[in-house]
Amino acid sequence: MVDSNQPRIHCAGPSITEREIAYVTDAVTNCWYSDAGKYHQRLEAAVAEYLGVQHVVPTPTGTSAIHLAMMVLGIGPGDEVIVPELTWIGSAAPVSYVGARSVFADVDPDHWCLSAESLEAKITSRTRAVVVVDLYGDMPDYKRIREIADRCGIAVVEDAAQAFGSSWQGRKAGTFGDIGIFSLHGSKTVTSGEGGLFVTDRLDLYERALTLRDHGRRLDGTRFYEDFDRYYYHFELGNKFKMSSMQAALALAQVERAEELVTCKRQIHEWYCQELAEIPLYQIHTEREGLINSYWLPAVSIERGRQLDKLRVMRELEDCNIDIRPLYYPLSSLPPYCDTPSGHEAQQANRVAYDESPYGFNLPSNLRMTREDVVRVSAVLSRLSEEIVSTPTPTR
Ligand SMILES: *Cc1c(COP(=O)(O)O)cnc(C)c1O
Repeated sequence: MVDSNQPRIHCAGPSITEREIAYVTDAVTNCWYSDAGKYHQRLEAAVAEYLGVQHVVPTPTGTSAIHLAMMVLGIGPGDEVIVPELTWIGSAAPVSYVGARSVFADVDPDHWCLSAESLEAKITSRTRAVVVVDLYGDMPDYKRIREIADRCGIAVVEDAAQAFGSSWQGRKAGTFGDIGIFSLHGSKTVTSGEGGLFVTDRLDLYERALTLRDHGRRLDGTRFYEDFDRYYYHFELGNKFKMSSMQAALALAQVERAEELVTCKRQIHEWYCQELAEIPLYQIHTEREGLINSYWLPAVSIERGRQLDKLRVMRELEDCNIDIRPLYYPLSSLPPYCDTPSGHEAQQANRVAYDESPYGFNLPSNLRMTREDVVRVSAVLSRLSEEIVSTPTPTR
């Protein structure tokens, strides 16, 4: 039974100000004809500057940015791409869209991101790339991952969908791979409603992206190519992965506010740390040295050996009209993958992911959260914890 006397606390959601409204209004009013690309250009420049990256390609979603990455890298049938077990399915699904095979690697128990050892163990002669995920704003050991990828000649795609504004040793998330991708979905820290970003320092990959996201056109140089009009000449089959001006305008306003939005996320995380410090059974993940986590969603591990798992916590909070998220199910356990050979192998091999998944969850961290909301969430967790600790474990 949901206690609807209390307003719902949403897990994630944006902060929208007069700036976003002004830019979007300008875009819908004026950005047609010769000005159609105005906000795209400003967005690309703002993202390039914020991240310290050379090239930026806005896309309709984060999923399509990963799909574009697969196309740009020339990945296709017969190829394997390594993906961590614990992530949103959008990290893995594009591997199948291009006809390649996802191979699932295990995660590190400390931060739930890709384990470098497991990555190394999964590489075969067919491996072409690894999608590395900055889960919930955290990051894995990029130094080792890069070293393994370089030695084995595979590309690194950094899925930084959940990590806009995180950094490691002063370098921003999204810049650790050959290609970085972001999602600008409404649940993410920086949003355009629906949207995504493909970023890279490599000119060759950037140029491929411009062609492959535009039905194989090459709109560089003059309009006329030999005897053809380039606008209507397709050099190859591509896809159509673009963003509208209204989305670009919204995204620009958000990127201009990125520091403020990240500060807000970090504040919410800090409040939870204070509230949960004395409460047994929950361990909130914090930063390792060198990392600045933009804390898209605070991540919590539940103590083992109690009558408590993520579903119990979720139900309890849902009854109080509070929306939390479970740590992801291992991808190899889900219907699209569980009956494939690589799924079977992963179910046996990826022990950490299977051990962690039932005992992890994310606390709500929408960008309108107040300290009172954090106190309300923490009070429910505290009550549940007391109940569990004081109930003797049933003996058989
Ligand atoms: C949100 C997300 C995506 C996909 O982004 P969309 O914009 O929803 O397509 C991909 N990977 C991760 C890790 C995500 O969280």
